[in-house]
Amino acid sequence: MTHAKAYAAQSAKTPLAPFSFERRSVGAQDVALDVLHCGVCHSDLHTARNEWRNTIYPSVPGHEIVGRVTAVGDLVSKFKVGDIVGVGCMVDSCQHCTPCADGLEQYCDNGFTGTYNGPEQGTGANTYGGYSSAMVVRESFVLKITHSDAELAAVAPLLCAGITTYSPLRQWNVGPGHKVGIVGLGGLGHMGVKIAAAMGAHVVLFTTSVNKREDALRLGAKEVVVSKNPEEMAAHANSFDFILNTVAAPHNLDAFLALLKLDGTMTLVGAPENPHPSPNVFSLIMKRRRLAGSLIGGIRETQEMLDFCAKHHIVSDIETIRMDQIETAYERMLKSDVKYRFVVDMATL
Ligand code: NAP
Ligand code: ZN
Repeated sequence: MTHAKAYAAQSAKTPLAPFSFERRSVGAQDVALDVLHCGVCHSDLHTARNEWRNTIYPSVPGHEIVGRVTAVGDLVSKFKVGDIVGVGCMVDSCQHCTPCADGLEQYCDNGFTGTYNGPEQGTGANTYGGYSSAMVVRESFVLKITHSDAELAAVAPLLCAGITTYSPLRQWNVGPGHKVGIVGLGGLGHMGVKIAAAMGAHVVLFTTSVNKREDALRLGAKEVVVSKNPEEMAAHANSFDFILNTVAAPHNLDAFLALLKLDGTMTLVGAPENPHPSPNVFSLIMKRRRLAGSLIGGIRETQEMLDFCAKHHIVSDIETIRMDQIETAYERMLKSDVKYRFVVDMATL
């Protein structure tokens, strides 16, 4: 067993606070790592505060993890002690259903094991995430990192924000000649802008924050639309091939569906606490538009995304925080005041 220090929520209403627990022993197929950097995803906040009504306490969030390998099991062949590795939103799955066989572990028929909030395969135990000093993870859910050492803190957010935007952009074949909208310039949205631009699309960023306009252009958007301004929205009616909606709060989807052209798709990745108002059927049927969803990405695709980002020199724009600043980071996230991802320096734990 490995003793781990951590930060945990003990209930929806209490702030995260120091906590310690034992990690399982390193099994034959396991990799043990010290956590160096952990990104702060809005899903961490949704979970810590039980906004999805499924949180098991104590809850140790964190699923954007970069660490250094400290031990490997006898059957591990891809990693050795000292390697820099990544862990994202999943640490296991059933490994035998059709989605798992197809590398789509996030859609595992038997339910994947979240990096936090479990359940662990076999035991059903709760899992504890990356706001902790050490982890033990099945080798097949550990990712190789090839970015430079200087970039490692900014690589951490790729493990969730990166793959959650990369996967739908790939699934809907975004590339040169496509007009692509990204809604919301937060952790996910800013990765969506960078990745869609690197894929060659004409990227338009939709924001509710007027002061993010310059940043969006710097990050790779060709145009910026303040979505609260109806005239700016109307200028883009019926023109998008694809829109990726990352917003973490309920809002009017019709305003964005109206911007899709014939056969265009809007994919939702934001997962608000309360439902969006139902879209109008006519927003969909008049131009055979589609409204879709997407969940993170499979392990194979996560490795592909990491390699794509390394090749295109893409990392996250981050603000480093201490572990004891996590509640302040959450409050700023709720005010859309994030530029554009908080990453915890785990040496401060
Ligand atoms: P974030 O950093 O807080 O960014 C969300 C952005 O949404 C904000 O920066 C803001 O951008 C915009 N926004 C916030 N409130 C809004 C409102 N009331 N109306 C319109 N826009 C609003 O969050 P994140 O970490 O990117 O996560 C975004 C969502 O995706 C969360 O719900 C998270 O749980 C979910 N998520 C889903 C998956 C998946 O697999 N599907 C994976 C990870 C996260 P502007 O200031 O530009 O308007
Ligand atoms: Zn996440």
